Amino acid sequence: MTQLHNMTVAQLAQTLKTKQASAVEVATAFLARTGGNPHNAFLDINSEVTLAQAQASDARIAAGTAGALEGVPIAHKDVFVTRDFATTAGSKILSGYRSPFDATVVQKLGAGVNAQGGAGMVSLGKVNCDEFAMGSANENSAYGAVTNPWDTSRVPGGSSGGSAAAVAARLAPAATGTDTGGSIRQPASFCGITGIKPTYGRASRYGMIAYASSLDQAGPMARTAEDCALLLSAMCGADLDRDSTSLDVPAENFSAKLGDNLLGLRIGIPKEFFGEGLAADVRTAIDAALKTLEAQGAKLVPITLPRTELAIPVYYIIAPAEASSNLSRFDGVKFGHRASAYTDLVSMYKKTRAEGFGEEVKRRIMTGAYVLSHGYYDAYYLQAQKIRRMIADDFQRAFAECDVIAGPVAPSVAWKLGNNASDPLADYLADIFTLPASLAGLPGMSIPVGFGEGHMPVGMQLIGNYLQEARLLNVAHQYQLATDHHLQQPEGI
Ligand code: GLN
Repeated sequence: MTQLHNMTVAQLAQTLKTKQASAVEVATAFLARTGGNPHNAFLDINSEVTLAQAQASDARIAAGTAGALEGVPIAHKDVFVTRDFATTAGSKILSGYRSPFDATVVQKLGAGVNAQGGAGMVSLGKVNCDEFAMGSANENSAYGAVTNPWDTSRVPGGSSGGSAAAVAARLAPAATGTDTGGSIRQPASFCGITGIKPTYGRASRYGMIAYASSLDQAGPMARTAEDCALLLSAMCGADLDRDSTSLDVPAENFSAKLGDNLLGLRIGIPKEFFGEGLAADVRTAIDAALKTLEAQGAKLVPITLPRTELAIPVYYIIAPAEASSNLSRFDGVKFGHRASAYTDLVSMYKKTRAEGFGEEVKRRIMTGAYVLSHGYYDAYYLQAQKIRRMIADDFQRAFAECDVIAGPVAPSVAWKLGNNASDPLADYLADIFTLPASLAGLPGMSIPVGFGEGHMPVGMQLIGNYLQEARLLNVAHQYQLATDHHLQQPEGI
């Protein structure tokens, strides 16, 4: 039998179902690996809570009431609120915060509402992330950077860097992530795993600490497309009473079409994704992956996404604008940290926020307040909203000619820790290929397609039209049947 920590979600589900291992045995195997907190991936671990959940899973398995992924462990990004683990969103301002409830996604993947109707997964704890999910390298966490399991002198990507590192280092078979401008796809790419951000509105945002509400989406990160399909099927579904932007579409079984062949599939290749800014090693790996897909019956169709470059300024206006509003709730009154010395209410607000927020979060709040302020709103925020619509329209024109779009996730492989420390713009620019789909609200995923400089993983991005997650997962799964990049693992793991 494969060692438990080397099993995929699908294999673990099968092992548990056939009673070759109990949920407690599986949880114990993973808890043993998280000791010493490798890669600084975890922010909260509580073996008592995890083992109690595993025992409940074993009881459901014995009673014949097991959920779809009963007993399989998962780690949650620390932007999902959880009752049984601390929640900080990677910020000092939320240190010591305990949520009175679980985020909808956590509930659905776990035991469900009142221990019913969930997938039955066991939570291994909370994983590190950039503060309030702002970042591309996981260097903005108040609790320290996460390191990349492939090379610990490099970043794991961000903001879901803890999720990606945990899966790559086999500390968890799967993790949740959130993607506002690329935070599932880019760390998945940097750590050589598979991740998917569904269509905006597919997964409930209830209990997901808000960064930029019109962009934030939850999604799974795991080793294979097959696993992502299982996880996404459990995560999605309308949550109309609790999330005002939840899509009123029925839950879907994203595993159903994984086996379809790719004959005649039209893959759009946006010329703007293959320009000067793309590193040669990344390009080589993507080109080879496209050749594989062609050999499987797909056709490559040249397309254009002419406003790709504009996605950067547009996103870095809209996201901070929304963040400046969302983060106003952290004032020392309702949640987490409160300054100890202050003179009056306003000084308490000021000191709490000055002490509690990190540098990047403050930068975004200031940018956001600026672009929304009287006199600048029309010049920046309104213009950005107009171009956002044009970017979405560009995608619709492209999808008239193709079924899915393929390209790089990021211009380079994972960079060295500290590389961009004095230049936040360098991180922003590296988001160029993930931001367009985010602004349009489209589903996107990252799959490992090989290795580049320093034997670092390269991810390929697949973008689909609205609600076409099943198609993306099908393409990714077929590719993974023909290749073994997703099976590679960092040395010493
Ligand atoms: N790097 C982007 C940002 O810092 C995206 C982050 C995300 O998707 N959460 O805003």
